[in-house]
Amino acid sequence: MGKAEVSLEHLYKVFTKPEGRDSKLAQIEEHLSDNLADFLSQHVVTDARSLEQIEKEFAQFSVPDSPQFVSEHAESLLEKLVTHSVNTYSPTFIGHMTSALPYFHLPLAKLLVGLNQNLVKIETSKAFTPLERQVLGMMHELVYGESEQFYQTYLHSAQSSLGAFCSGGTVANMTALWVARNKLFAAQDGFKGIAREGFGAALAHYGVNKVGILSSKRGHYSLSKAVDLLGLGRDQMLTVDCPTQRLSPEKALVLGKEFQQQGNKLLALVGIAGTTETGHVDPLDELADVAQELDCHFHVDAAWGGASLFSDNYRHVLKGIERADSVTLDAHKQMYVPMGAGMALFKNPEDSNAVRHHAQYILRAGSKDLGATTLEGSRNGMAMMVYASLHIFGRQGYQLLIDQSIEKAKAFAKMISDHSDFELVTSPTLALLTYRLCPAAIQEKMKSKATEQSRLNEQLDKLTVAVQKQQRESGKSFVSRTRLTVEQYPAQPITVFRVVLANPLTSLGDLTAILEEQLTIAQQTPDWRSLNQ
Ligand SMILES: *Cc1c(COP(=O)(O)O)cnc(C)c1O
Repeated sequence: MGKAEVSLEHLYKVFTKPEGRDSKLAQIEEHLSDNLADFLSQHVVTDARSLEQIEKEFAQFSVPDSPQFVSEHAESLLEKLVTHSVNTYSPTFIGHMTSALPYFHLPLAKLLVGLNQNLVKIETSKAFTPLERQVLGMMHELVYGESEQFYQTYLHSAQSSLGAFCSGGTVANMTALWVARNKLFAAQDGFKGIAREGFGAALAHYGVNKVGILSSKRGHYSLSKAVDLLGLGRDQMLTVDCPTQRLSPEKALVLGKEFQQQGNKLLALVGIAGTTETGHVDPLDELADVAQELDCHFHVDAAWGGASLFSDNYRHVLKGIERADSVTLDAHKQMYVPMGAGMALFKNPEDSNAVRHHAQYILRAGSKDLGATTLEGSRNGMAMMVYASLHIFGRQGYQLLIDQSIEKAKAFAKMISDHSDFELVTSPTLALLTYRLCPAAIQEKMKSKATEQSRLNEQLDKLTVAVQKQQRESGKSFVSRTRLTVEQYPAQPITVFRVVLANPLTSLGDLTAILEEQLTIAQQTPDWRSLNQ
């Protein structure tokens, strides 16, 4: 292949004209749209190559001098990048919340890039702005179920917002807590509010020592990033131990009161609807009472679990979420939308004004520019993907998807419990469970001899780590792992396999094969031999 010319003429072509129907890029495009699964299985190679080896492919550190033909570059991307990517579409990739997507997102993604709308302001997005507001409204209605009159007033109001669309759960949590912080330290008696005067002035004016938020130990690490960023400090992220995997309302109330009695202010109580590690849902209704008693903002992090609201069969698990002042949702998890689709919803649409910003050239007072109340600036039109999914699946379609995931998780849990060499550690509330390898004899031994428990657990931890790594490296399937304190073994945290049943195409046969593979791997480890001696 010849060298691409260094000329404006060549560059204009890069902007306007593809290199021809039979170019490498055109071939890739065709293969992708024809049969994505086939494309992935052909180009994504799973071998035991280490990250260090792959880093060698990306070792060059200066910007290439001269232009390259698009096709030539596409070829190199296939070779260096695609080959060593992770096949998250595989039905045996069951370790994380990232999974296969419905095919229609592929052409829609092209449309999205083709239009390249910037949702920060109407001047660069027009129709996308009302669309995003409508999506926020639909999700708001799913969570809060307010009246028709309510949505008629607020859906497209320039004075308020039902929520903020953002890149993900992390930014959604930050947005919600940012709103809560600015409301807590609002302007009064000559004080112009924390947004104007800053944290130090706010503490002085309100006569407050420290400001904290309260959640269970299972809270997502984005909460800790948020308290850091908002100036509260990570030490003010108060967490309650939860061996049962759910935040105890009694313990939360005690800890919250204690904190307040020391001259501190509680910014928010955070309930989790679907914890990242075990998928449990906090008792939201009771926590709403606790937040009321502590007189603080009630936020629910439903980034992963929120989609369960689509199902009439499981909606009740999230009872109380409608009492939250704000809710985080991630459409890129159980709603099968590509990454970059988070939402913070506000029960009271006026809350969005606590973080409203104006600028002279955009976001002018009275405009409907979405950027006035979002943390992020330039943003693409991901709301279109949510909009499309909401129509293509509909509430009933989502219900079917949610139900089948949870039912599959329950079937898998039973498979694990029935197997003599595995131990179910946490049962699925939603489509997430944890377990480990633990031969029946060892399970018995631990019950009868409490003194042996800690030593055996340590040995089992080593086994779990070894099996998880080996399984990941051999590349047929992927299960993640985490460390938890659980009811059965309160004395020490244990290492467990973590499974998220995200891909609708994962079959019970796939799950059986994953257990068999884990057992085979385990039997070849020294840990297994010493355990079974
Ligand atoms: C995934 C998740 C987050 C973070 O969301 P991102 O989209 O990764 O930023 C926060 N909270 C919970 C409960 C989550 O599951």
